[in-house]
Amino acid sequence: MDSAEFERRRQSVVAGLATRKIDALLVSSPPNVRYLSGFTGSNGNLLIWKNGTVLFTDPRYDLRAREEVSCQVKVTRGPLVLDVVARIGRIGLRRIGYEQTRMTCDSFEALKNRLPMKASLVPIASWMEELRIIKSPAELALIRRSVETNSRAFEQVTARLKAGVTERALAAELEYRMRRLGAEKPAFDTIVAGGARTALPHSEPSSARLEIGGLVMVDMGALQEGYSSDMTRMLYLGVPTAKVKRTYRAVLEAQLAALDAVRPGALAAQVHQQARRVLKSYGLDRAFVHSTGHGLGLEIHEPPRIGKNGKTRLEAGMAITIEPGAYLEGFGGIRIEDTVVVTSSGYEILTPTSKELRTI
Ligand code: ZN
Ligand code: ZN
Repeated sequence: MDSAEFERRRQSVVAGLATRKIDALLVSSPPNVRYLSGFTGSNGNLLIWKNGTVLFTDPRYDLRAREEVSCQVKVTRGPLVLDVVARIGRIGLRRIGYEQTRMTCDSFEALKNRLPMKASLVPIASWMEELRIIKSPAELALIRRSVETNSRAFEQVTARLKAGVTERALAAELEYRMRRLGAEKPAFDTIVAGGARTALPHSEPSSARLEIGGLVMVDMGALQEGYSSDMTRMLYLGVPTAKVKRTYRAVLEAQLAALDAVRPGALAAQVHQQARRVLKSYGLDRAFVHSTGHGLGLEIHEPPRIGKNGKTRLEAGMAITIEPGAYLEGFGGIRIEDTVVVTSSGYEILTPTSKELRTI
């Protein structure tokens, strides 16, 4: 990503200061610091005001910060907050917006107690998340790359998969492959579940072996150049039973119906409703225990939420997942998940992996 894109983002923050009645915004959460500056370190504070931006970080990140960002960098030896408040005082900033939903109570107290007398803190919720919800072409290119790496890792590992391997070993193999193919790391802890354990929508890989005559759920995502991908696919070891086939068909139909509802102007709740409608027609609505999807980007879960109460109207440039599922205790669960981009005419599925139930 070029520095011009980061500068544009900071300009849109500056343009929004007045409507929020603040003189400056202090950004402390790593994904938002990264979004506005390109800085990838874990300890950074960004202070943005009308006439400038400073990134405060510690000596571990001195070189990295100077390489990555185009704004001023201040390397501080003690806690960042001391230099941040000193700068606030020197510029004479009064009303400082802070990330209410991201800052810890400790950091908030430290900041508040040291603030110059005339300055005050103003809670700002979800402003950055609103800016981030529409992805730029450069961001979409990175998400696409992450999706491709993720799918390639899945293909390479499942091509060699045999019954008898443990859930944990398969998860480790998938994560190793995605790193070998260019990912920094998994975007979240890979989910591998076999047999009846697939009925747990979010399970941790265990030492249980994947056995013939059982479903396997793989939910995996790569983090590449900071951007996430997310995909769930189902495998079956052996010959699927009629119930497995029927349940699979129901979830696939629900996923396709939800996808079909994705277009600019559609309400997130309507997309969810489509998946639910199909599963209900199969008598599986009560087995669908989560929402249909979520936005993703610098974080694996971002707005919009594609669920029952999803009030967001979809817009071109949003990157979301579509992932309905059905979970039946004692039998197992099925989920099918793609990473999708909302386009001006509807949607594009980025995930290239086939949605056929794979038998091994
Ligand atoms: Zn997932
Ligand atoms: Zn997901």
